[in-house]
Amino acid sequence: MKKVNNISNYMVKKSELKDWDSVFINPTSIEIETLRTGTIISKMSGLLNLKSANATELKDGTANIPVLAHILRHEKYGDYLIDTGFDSSFTNEIGGNFKGILKKIYFRNYIQEKNSEGIEFQLKCRCINLNGVFLTHIHEHASGSPSLPNEIPYVYGNGEREENFFPFVYSNFFKNKVDLQKIDFLKGQDMPILGKCVDVFGDGSFWAISTPGHTKGHISYIVNGKETKSLITGDVCISKKGFELGVETGKFSLNKEQGRESFFKIKEFIKYYPCTKIIFGHETDEFKIEYS
Ligand SMILES: [Zn+2]
Repeated sequence: MKKVNNISNYMVKKSELKDWDSVFINPTSIEIETLRTGTIISKMSGLLNLKSANATELKDGTANIPVLAHILRHEKYGDYLIDTGFDSSFTNEIGGNFKGILKKIYFRNYIQEKNSEGIEFQLKCRCINLNGVFLTHIHEHASGSPSLPNEIPYVYGNGEREENFFPFVYSNFFKNKVDLQKIDFLKGQDMPILGKCVDVFGDGSFWAISTPGHTKGHISYIVNGKETKSLITGDVCISKKGFELGVETGKFSLNKEQGRESFFKIKEFIKYYPCTKIIFGHETDEFKIEYS
């Protein structure tokens, strides 16, 4: 039997594709569907750096931010998730499956309203059999993991770790998972504008991009579909407003300078490839952030 929490390195495939033009002229039958699994009521200063020179018109306040997960369907390799969002433990208990003596205070603003459901229910409704989970980072983006199969691979960036302020607040999302895999971007390839990238399946359909700052091992993803090309930013850019104003993620980021660099790398990429659909860390055209 495999050891519990066996962490290995993701097998990086050699890619023939060396620039984005060559990638985008060879799209694949791959698509994504975004699901809303909950809401976080958050301070604006967390999601946007209000001290940025580009933030002069922004005031602090609160925002209701959707907690998202994305189903990735590849014609040949099957169904995966990008981030898990919340599972239904957040319906039943304040703080859901986070742990610790302060969780009911610390995570009191993590809620599931009528317009959202736990990830495991939404997958079941769609008869999805997951082959694996790719994470932009851990935090609440992995908090649906306990409700998902134990045997499939859970893939995240090298250096990424769970929040651990034991015994106050912490998480143990990968308890019982047997196949944790880390992407080592040093084994990836340098791509124009975005730097270190990994051609995840080796067919140019799905790319992992190293975008550290919000967390140490943070990853953004590109999905090179025949219908749509999407960029999933993760929390390197949480909101559409931040992207449009040129204001990077605020207090939620671990390393602000690095986060800023990653954010402007993404912005630069979109300048060259404006037809790419951007899916922000907590906002899409369908699921919008509400500011108050
Ligand atoms: Zn987040």
